[in-house]
Amino acid sequence: MSTDIKKAFKAMPSALTFDLHAKCSTTKARASTLHLPHGSVPLPVFMPVATQASLKGLTYDQLKDTGCMLCLNNTYHLGLKPGQAILDHVGGAHKLQGWDRNILTDSGGFQMVSLLKLAKVTEEGVRFLSPHDGTPMLLTPEHSISLQNSIGSDIIMQLDDVIATTTPDPTRMKEAMERSVRWLDRCIEAHKYPGRQNLFCIIQGGLDLDLRRQCCEEMVARETPGIAIGGLSGGEAKAEYCKVVDTCTGLLPDHKPRYVMGVGYPEDLVVSVALGADMFDCVWPTRTARFGNAITPYGVLNLRHNSYMNDFSPIQEGCKCPCCRPKSEGGLGITKAYCHHLAAKETVGAHLLTMHNVQYQLSLMDSIREAILEDRYPAFLLDFFDKYYGSRLKSPQWAVDALRGVGVDLFA
Ligand SMILES: [Zn+2]
Repeated sequence: MSTDIKKAFKAMPSALTFDLHAKCSTTKARASTLHLPHGSVPLPVFMPVATQASLKGLTYDQLKDTGCMLCLNNTYHLGLKPGQAILDHVGGAHKLQGWDRNILTDSGGFQMVSLLKLAKVTEEGVRFLSPHDGTPMLLTPEHSISLQNSIGSDIIMQLDDVIATTTPDPTRMKEAMERSVRWLDRCIEAHKYPGRQNLFCIIQGGLDLDLRRQCCEEMVARETPGIAIGGLSGGEAKAEYCKVVDTCTGLLPDHKPRYVMGVGYPEDLVVSVALGADMFDCVWPTRTARFGNAITPYGVLNLRHNSYMNDFSPIQEGCKCPCCRPKSEGGLGITKAYCHHLAAKETVGAHLLTMHNVQYQLSLMDSIREAILEDRYPAFLLDFFDKYYGSRLKSPQWAVDALRGVGVDLFA
């Protein structure tokens, strides 16, 4: 079957080059560089989500200062406002936002299915009622790609038939996987600018590893410039999540970037990298900042807690973000006590924590990459879990099991 599939497709044009620098000698972790039209992105990477073409709480200069080379925009939101005509008129989302680094857009489908209760999926596309005036609308693979062509994002995603991994109906799961393959073909056909925008396929198949394997085979054969593993992070058990990622990365070619969608807790990132994934996105770090939560190497701190009222140390000692950096080093020298004072009351509190959390995520990925390049990722993992949980012996069982599967024993 695989040779038939291979014969049937020729490689798509690509607007990226992927340099694989190092593979961990124990785990499946990789360090690479993804060269995109708006600059080079060191992988593994965490991509902050700028929903409405703005990262809630950060200016683009502040986002640049974190070292971010690639962020996410949502096609669904940009398609509604400012809308395709204005995007075409301005010349795309980079110009609209004044962001000269890379953008990845989703297909818009996930947002419709998750935001709109009345969305209905048929072979044609996703039918829904306009949130503005209730008129029936249809997002097809062709329309999704056309919108993303107008947005001009460096990486565009296929429209997929995405359903919750926890769906109890195996027939529906199989249908969604097969339909996603058919929709990929329609997306490839509709894509106007393959020479400057990179289309990624999205592997589906829920928690059924056989469906995932079939989907990998079909989609890898289509030779898209990059590959995403989708439909996860929807409330499934973490052990199941890890099996799916591990199974898929085992079937994906070495020379293409692998993006696991919707993943962002620090412990998920370090484990998923060990399982062979390169790219991640999640709204959690910025969303949780708005609830007064700061991510640190020692776990998540809820700065609303009264214990921080008289704590005049920075959120995280040694953090490079402007909030934590002392005044003597050009930072703001913000203390936990001040964050506590502001948290969940003043918007500036949310801004400061957003800045810190994005910096934390990007610095985490930097140190992961460095560890892989120096072939000491297993030791990095032990140290990470020691700090994050107070002791690696307190690591969650799913992480222990997943890492054992790739040769690292957190309990050793
Ligand atoms: Zn900080």
